[in-house]
Formats: sequence, C-alpha cells, structure tokens
Amino acid sequence: MKKNYLSLVLALMLVASRGFAQAPCATDEMHKFYKQQNPAVQVYEDQLNKSIKAFIAAQVNAGKFASKTTATRSDTDFYDIPVVVHIIHNYGGENLKDSNIYAMIAHLNKFYNKQSALSTIIEPFKKYIGNAKMRFHLATIDPLGNPTKGITKRISYLTYGGDDQAKMDQWPPTSYFNIWTENVIGRGIGVGIVLAYATFPASGAAFPYSDGVISRFDYINDDNTIEHETGHYFDLAHPWNSGEGVGEVCGDDEVDDTPPTKGHFSVCGSAQLYDTTCASNYFKLYASASGMVDSVVNYPDTTNTQNIMDYSQCAQSMLTIGQVWRMRAALNSTIGGRSNLWDSTNLAITGALAPYPDLKPVTDFCVRQGLAQNSTLTYFTFPGVSLHFSNKSWQDTITAVNWTFSNGASKPTQSFTTLSGINNSFENNFSEPGWVNMTLEATGNNSGTTSTTYPKAVFVADNTGVDALSGYFMEFNPGADRDKWPMFNYYNNGFKWDYANVGYYDNTCIKYQGFDKRAGLELLTGTPKGDFDDLYSVPFDLTGLTSGNCNLNFHYSGASRTSASEHINDSLFIDYSIDKKHTWVSLAKLGKGTLLNKGALSVEYVPISTSDWAAKTISIPAAARNKYTVFRFRYKPGIYKSAFDFRSSGNNFYLDRVHVSPWTAEVSDLKMGTIDVKVVPNPTQGDAYVVVKDVQNSQAQVVVMDITGKVVYTITEQLKGNAARILIPHDAIATPGIYLVQTMSGSQSNTQKLVVY
Ligand SMILES: [Zn+2]
Repeated sequence: MKKNYLSLVLALMLVASRGFAQAPCATDEMHKFYKQQNPAVQVYEDQLNKSIKAFIAAQVNAGKFASKTTATRSDTDFYDIPVVVHIIHNYGGENLKDSNIYAMIAHLNKFYNKQSALSTIIEPFKKYIGNAKMRFHLATIDPLGNPTKGITKRISYLTYGGDDQAKMDQWPPTSYFNIWTENVIGRGIGVGIVLAYATFPASGAAFPYSDGVISRFDYINDDNTIEHETGHYFDLAHPWNSGEGVGEVCGDDEVDDTPPTKGHFSVCGSAQLYDTTCASNYFKLYASASGMVDSVVNYPDTTNTQNIMDYSQCAQSMLTIGQVWRMRAALNSTIGGRSNLWDSTNLAITGALAPYPDLKPVTDFCVRQGLAQNSTLTYFTFPGVSLHFSNKSWQDTITAVNWTFSNGASKPTQSFTTLSGINNSFENNFSEPGWVNMTLEATGNNSGTTSTTYPKAVFVADNTGVDALSGYFMEFNPGADRDKWPMFNYYNNGFKWDYANVGYYDNTCIKYQGFDKRAGLELLTGTPKGDFDDLYSVPFDLTGLTSGNCNLNFHYSGASRTSASEHINDSLFIDYSIDKKHTWVSLAKLGKGTLLNKGALSVEYVPISTSDWAAKTISIPAAARNKYTVFRFRYKPGIYKSAFDFRSSGNNFYLDRVHVSPWTAEVSDLKMGTIDVKVVPNPTQGDAYVVVKDVQNSQAQVVVMDITGKVVYTITEQLKGNAARILIPHDAIATPGIYLVQTMSGSQSNTQKLVVY
C-alpha cells in the first residue's frame, strides 16, 4: 500500500490533530474481528504458523535459504493462481472496465515476478529482494464449467461500504483467488478511511465465504494496494505486526530479513528509509539439524521501509526473500485451501492456463435523469420528458451498439460505431405511455454480437392526471388500472414490491416482500440494508380539490419479525412530484410504530381478515395539488441492530385500496350503537357489504336510506361467524351520493355513512 496515502494523511490531519485510526488496510482489524467471532481462526493460525516454521526450516536445511554460505537463494518453481474479479457497482465510476482488470492483473504479475522498477531500493536491501514467481491468471472456466473471462459484475447498493456483505457471487475460494471491488469500503469496520482488506489463510479457513481481497475500485491500479493485500492473502503480515497501529511500537512479522520496525505511514524520506529505531544491531542465528549454531546472518540494521507490506509512501517497493518463503509455505498448506489453488487439477478445472477466450459481449445499460455520471438513475418518465440512456455492455471491447425503442420514441433507433460514442449517453423520450420495449445489441471487437430485449426498460406515465374530484380507487385487481402503477426492484433481489392474493376488501393488493426468505449460505452476503424499491402511482389531477378536502388514503397491514424496538427498522417513504421531472418532496414517512400494525411474527405474515388492516389518511398540501401529481412509495427494508445479523428484521407489508379523493380513508367510523359494524368498501363504486362482528347466531336487519331519508334497500339475514357479511347490491345504490346504513340486531343498532361515487 503505497503512494496516495499522503493525501489521505494530510486530509485526515486537517480534521484531527490527535492520533487517528491509521488503517488504509483493514486486514488486521478484520482478522481481529474474525477471531472474536470464531475461535477456529486461532486454531488454524497456530497450525499454519507451525507448518510455516517447519517448511522454512526444511528450506534452510536444504541450503535454499539463510544458510551460512548464502542468504539469497531463491526457489525456481512458479506458482500459478486462478483469479476471479467481482465488480460490485451501481453504474458509477466503480463499474470498472475489463481493461482496468487486465491492467490490475498485469501489475500484480509484474510485482510478483520481480519485474517492477526496483532501482531506488536502498543498498542494504538490494540483495534481499525476493522473486515470488507467482503468476495470476483470470480464470477461463467458471464453477459451473462454463467459459468465462474471470470477471463478474453485480449491481448493488452494497457497493457503498457493504464490505463482507458485498462479497457476492463468490467462486469456491479453494479453487479461485476471489477479488472484489466496491465504491466505498470500511463503513462496517469503523476504522476511518480504508482502501482494502484481505483475509489471512486462517480467517479464510474459518470464514470461507469471506475469503479473498476486497478493494476500493480506484485503488486497483496505479499503486500497490492489490499487491499488498495479495501478500496478506498468502499470509504476510505488516512488518511491524505488533498488534498496535502503524508507527506505534516495535514489532516483528516473523520474517527474518524484514528487520523489526514500528512501520511507516509517511513520505519516504531518508529518515524513514534508514530508520534504525527498532533494527540496530539486528542479526539472526540459525541452528543446524543437530541444534548447534550453524550460521549467523547479519541482516540490515535499518527497517525495510520500502517493503510492500509497510504503509510508507515510497515510489518503489519490494518483497524480501524471507517473505517469498513465507508465502510459499502458506501456498503449501491446506489452511484456507491455498495449496489447492495451484494444484494442477485445479488449474485444469478453472482453465487458469488455457488461452484467454473471446466471449460474446454481455449487454447492459442504465438510464439517468440527466447527462452527468452522478445524475440519479431512474426508469420512470412522462411523455416528452427525456431520459439519458447509457450503454454499459461489457465482456469485450465493444465496437458497435444498436438500440431500438417502442412507444413512439423520439429516437426509435440509435446506433454507435465510433468508440467515443459507444458509452456516452443520449437523450430519448416517448410519446406513448406504458412500459417501453427496448432492444440493445452490442458487438465486440472479435467475438460477435449479443442482442437483448428488455420488455420493461422504462415506464412512461400517462400524460394527463386522473381527476380525483369524484374519488380514485386502486384495489390492485388484475386488468383495470394497476398496470399503470409500475414497481421497480432496482437491485433484482428478493426484497421487492409485488402483487398478492389477499386484500382489505377483495383478494388482491400489493405487498412488499420484507420477510427474508433466504436461508443458509445465502445469508452470509447480500444484506437488504441499503436496498430500496419503488412503487409509483398514476398521475392525478388534483387542481379541483381544496385544502382539507384532498387526501391520499390507503389501507395497510404489516408485521415485523421481532418485537424489540431497536430491531424494527423498516420504513416507507411517500413522496410526491408535480414537475414530471423527479423533483420529489416528502409527504410522509412511516416507520417504527406507524408502519407495522400487526406486531411481531416469526413466520411469513399474510393478513387474513379486514381487522388486520389499518387505515391511513394523509392530507395532501396545496403545494402538491397539480395537474399531474405522482406519488412514489419507497420501501426500505430494515435489519437487526446487530453487528453480526444481516437478515431483514421486517416481515411482509401489504398496501391496498389506495385512494385519492376529497374523503378520508374511513368514512364510516362514527359508532352510534353498541354493535360493531363496518360498511366496506367505503366509498364504493359497486357492491357494499355490512360486516357485523361478534354477534353469533342471531338475526340482523339492514336498512339503507338515501340522503333524503328514503329507504332504498332492506334485508334481514341470519348472522354466521365472527364477522358476518351482508350484501348491499350495487343496483340498490346505483346513484352516486351519500347513504345511511342502519343495522339492527336484537336491541342493538348502528348507523353508518356510505359514500357511492
Ligand atoms: Zn495491510
């Protein structure tokens, strides 16, 4: 880890004059964390250290290393390592190109074959420069036996500091050296700015699904971050390895030719290069097989500040011969499966030594509101309102792309053949509402063309708002208008909006799948924390409604998985936009205490009766009343407030009977009698039902009167069950207006207001 730290150090010093967590590499912190979690890490570490000692002793006895005649002999064998790189991204700069990965691998191979520039390594260490003779190869066969280029991509919010949770799509760690890249790293570690971390073999053995290296995307080239982390992955420690931070106390890394040091986190001046603080008069005695002193090696009396495993800001860096032997010892140990990586059978299975294949491109695209790279991603628009489409196809050098669009696109087709245009975004807009069907065709420089059709590329809302003056109801019944309420599962996971076959009044509604259905190994990565999913309403014309008489109403029913308040972290954000351009204004936020009305349930929650539902009325302010006001329901699943539990803590949330009107959600909440009666749905456009509760095996009479007091319908029925239903047929209440529904049973009665629209 070299270079670029200086700017980080300076930036940190500006905000903190005292000491700070100096850990651009969080390998030690993570190792500590893994050890706390699982005592097996220590057991594996002890085993590995024992076998490393034995391996190195054998090399010494074989005269290969630190013998009395020479301290500088190296091994002649090469070690080939299959690699897979997983790019975790959200279409930002962290969506690395294939060429970035090739450059990273080339850099790694140079360094681990003593081919990087070494001329400025100070004289005392020149003879200790090691050649690891390790060759890294992007795999050409994936775990399923399919051809690959050894690179995977995953779109995820976890790119923003997901760390171990972002280690998705791992390939078997005993067969492949897994490297992940993400946008921000270290959020879960709490040690300030972090650029990368690795698992030591012992951690990898105990936590196989975390095994590998993860790095910030902008540090994989141009400095030595990946080379440093690769050192850790093959069991090299920081040279100070004191258990303390860099620069604090003298320590040693169990490698003879890296003298004791405090480590350096600074510019590489001569004071640091020739730092003797911990290393003066440093030498090692070696014993022969009989235990007698066999040789003395007088190692340099200055620290190896230019070592790849230090943090110093040196332009050039090195490995020592001793470090190479330590890595070889780790490579010959089964701990963490390192010995399997370069095994000839594994090299054949992973295709590590096979020629790098030409594979067809993988098509991909993203859509933003504006041209800028950081403009918000969106897949929802209005007729005539432009979106910016960007080609993100990969897995080859893309030489041509062709786009075709439905829905009366302003650009029904768009083609690029010049490299400069291929990834640039272009504007497009649509005259017809509904889902846009799009085809993207990408041609690679030498491997053919891939054509993919996206039937739901973006959604175009209706151009005119629905008049809400006489009430608009969405029951999410098939057909009807529900297709105009688009849902977006941006990150393509199990946490999403979907239709459900239950409802407040009928048998359909919309639900948010918050109940974590994942099990076993799936739970080790991919936490829903950070996820969000959107449901959009149709646009409404609210200009005819007035203050106090303009409401967004809905019924909802939701549960949590736990009753402990600190773990109830789901939230529903309801925002509105009046400009057709995604200027979103908060209307309401429902969360703890206001969202999950059914309490805690350990099994997947499904509402079963109308009493499971709660009504909500949100008054729509004047600022939101426009000709095409759209509401956005954004659900954010919560997780347990625990460092080690990454499951969703929520259960399912159901939403039904969304209505925008002058009325509130529950028109008939006046209770005039002692009998518990509800009239549903209310308001209604068709049939209505009188639901009588807790009156068993008796008769009830229902009388319906219009607003003038004229009786329009009567019925007497035998009540059955806890919530008996009595039908008021739609033809009895065909004329829109207000009705009174009187229900009588024995000496009890109840009168409710019923609105027909
Ligand atoms: Zn490190």
